[in-house]
Amino acid sequence: MNVTRATFDEVMVPNYNPASMVPVRGVGSRVWDQDGAEYVDFAGGIAVNVLGHCHPALVEALQDQGNKLWHLSNVYTNEPALRLAKKMTEATFAERVYFANSGAEANEAALKLARRVALEKYGEEKSQIIAFNKGFHGRTFFTVTVGGQAAYSDGFGPKPGAIDHCDYNDLAAFEALISDKTCAVMMEPLQGEGGIISPDPAFVKGVRELCDKHNALLIFDEVQSGVGRTGHLYAYMGLDVTPDILTTAKALGGGFPIGAMLTTADIASHLKPGTHGSTYGGNPLACAVAERAFDVVNDAAVLRGVTDKEKLFRELLDEINSKYNVFTEVRGKGLLLGCALNEEYAGRSRDFLNAATNEKLMCLVAGVNVVRFAPSLIIPEQDIREGLARFERAVAAVVNAK
Ligand SMILES: *Cc1c(COP(=O)(O)O)cnc(C)c1O
Repeated sequence: MNVTRATFDEVMVPNYNPASMVPVRGVGSRVWDQDGAEYVDFAGGIAVNVLGHCHPALVEALQDQGNKLWHLSNVYTNEPALRLAKKMTEATFAERVYFANSGAEANEAALKLARRVALEKYGEEKSQIIAFNKGFHGRTFFTVTVGGQAAYSDGFGPKPGAIDHCDYNDLAAFEALISDKTCAVMMEPLQGEGGIISPDPAFVKGVRELCDKHNALLIFDEVQSGVGRTGHLYAYMGLDVTPDILTTAKALGGGFPIGAMLTTADIASHLKPGTHGSTYGGNPLACAVAERAFDVVNDAAVLRGVTDKEKLFRELLDEINSKYNVFTEVRGKGLLLGCALNEEYAGRSRDFLNAATNEKLMCLVAGVNVVRFAPSLIIPEQDIREGLARFERAVAAVVNAK
């Protein structure tokens, strides 16, 4: 059967507007489309493909488990899930793990758990959830409402209640909002979709202190920032602040769908049998692949490599910018980087992305003013150089099109 990009418009719900080429194959940080054209991949499936495409260790884990056991449901537990949970608790603050299939589901679990804890320990009054403008937490109705972007949450009728927002990095505004009625605070320890916005370390510390003061749970949404992305296994490890609940997905499965919520034994004890669940969550196939990805990423040399690669990205991006003068700054951490467009190019991140596609480079945007890169954590230096050479041609094309 012959399918093309045109088929998308015939048979798919139009909630996406994918690129005109259709990728068919990938190896490492290179991808090929239906016409055989080769792309350098700086998008990484939106910060998912931490080990690039078809990493041999992940392919092996998938094939091994694929010949053993795919799915059971949570009527039974399984070895890959137990091993992965053990490794995650050993490597983080957490003592308990809940598996889901996506970031939104992990966050949904975290929010429901926080509400349950507050209800059981303090009563109905304590239900407020505070989150931050420009935050992103997924697309279920609860998580999209907690996310701080009206463009995603509005237009679907009445929303879940008791959710308030203030500006990220504005500790005074946060202090004015939080009270003993606050049940939880959800934040990204590096805002991704909202424009690659790093937290002010004093802000994060202040949020932690105020959460403690008001007995509110601090939930770090590390769906994008986790699993080595910032050069730390989880971003909280570089901030000197420990959350009560942490969610992780995207990179966790290295391309296989899986999400997880991590927390302490005490907090976890409020989700008794039957209070929450998922048919697929923690399925052996997903956990076997994620376990292998976790093993590879949770390694000092790989994590140090992220920081080295960040340096190279920044150096080469600065060179491009000194020639073309299009960014105000390159921000973010590790291999989650954003080029913030200056006033002259305000609102035009899509134009840069389209120009990059023309130059056979896959990249991302984070809002209309930021071009985002989230490549494989083990992308070879030569692919970084080749990708940025293509990016330079894309920048030149946008600048010269004026
Ligand atoms: C992508 C993302 C989500 C949603 O994850 P899905 O797997 O798409 O549901 C949630 N939070 C953050 C910070 C994200 O970047």
